[in-house]
Amino acid sequence: MKAIVMDEFGEPDVLKMQEIPRPLPGADEVLVRIKCCGVCHLDLILRSGMRSRVKPPRILGHELAAEVLEVGANVDDFVPGDRITSFNFQACGKCADCLRGRPSLCRQTLGDIGQTRDGGYAEYAVLLASNLVKLPDGMLFEHACFAACVYGPPYKAIRGVGKIQPGQTVVITGASGGLGLAAIQITKSLGARSIAITSNASKVDRLKALGADEVVVSPDGAFGEDVRQLTKGRGADLVVELIGSPTFHGSLRSLAPGGRIAVVGELHGTPVEINLGLLIIKEFELHGVQSANRAELQEILQFMHDNAIEPTIWKSLPLDKAAEAHRELANREVIGRVLLVP
Ligand SMILES: [Zn+2]
Ligand SMILES: [Zn+2]
Repeated sequence: MKAIVMDEFGEPDVLKMQEIPRPLPGADEVLVRIKCCGVCHLDLILRSGMRSRVKPPRILGHELAAEVLEVGANVDDFVPGDRITSFNFQACGKCADCLRGRPSLCRQTLGDIGQTRDGGYAEYAVLLASNLVKLPDGMLFEHACFAACVYGPPYKAIRGVGKIQPGQTVVITGASGGLGLAAIQITKSLGARSIAITSNASKVDRLKALGADEVVVSPDGAFGEDVRQLTKGRGADLVVELIGSPTFHGSLRSLAPGGRIAVVGELHGTPVEINLGLLIIKEFELHGVQSANRAELQEILQFMHDNAIEPTIWKSLPLDKAAEAHRELANREVIGRVLLVP
């Protein structure tokens, strides 16, 4: 099969097309034909060698959608022809955290697709059946491949943590990034009101076009007062915190009494201060959010399909243009997602 094998860390040119044997599925695994695979910023970090868990040679790509070709002896929930996508972390499925439906907390993890196991920059891949979810009828592979990585965390934040109802208000920091745009779409589909926070005034029109009800340009993270004004002094029911410590103070100041903060991203790793008196008086809730689990991913796919939520696709490139895709993503000109199609 043809695959982009990363033989060493380095510049985009290390992503070279090779002809390698097609892998065979083990008893708990499934052989799939890749239909498309998103190129994620994480892939650029992995290629550079900054994540030591990846050991070349490796096939990158965790944002994949595919068709099942063959199933292993123990696999009874998939048959050839099934259309699937996957989430990338491979939990053990047996520990206490896995059994209580919290696989993102699994400490016996088998690693991640596209990191410790070969991923979707290839014509075929072998994946654990426990990582796969079937697509709703009629949903495009090109949309489904982004469900786990792009829509999963904001969906979990807004529906799982925020329990957002029509008419409630959601503040989204880092709104012009991929997860931020997804959060705006999800909020709108729920009939709730979004207040998008961005540091960049040039992003305002695009955020509004994608459905943001209000956009606050805040280069210094001091948007709490703007949110209070936009909510007639009450504050927001939920903050989806995609930036982390640089915006956290503004997020706290944005909260309505009893509001929730879902921290999805932390770009700086700087400790933050919380006034515990404020925590008591406002009875606010602070939650960390990782990836969606299997049941949540199934729900997200259905939600995207039912609400006609589509990711913005900047470009589809053939598989042998993987290096070009990485270069484009690195230069920050890309608005939306880049796809590789074998
Ligand atoms: Zn990703
Ligand atoms: Zn586990």
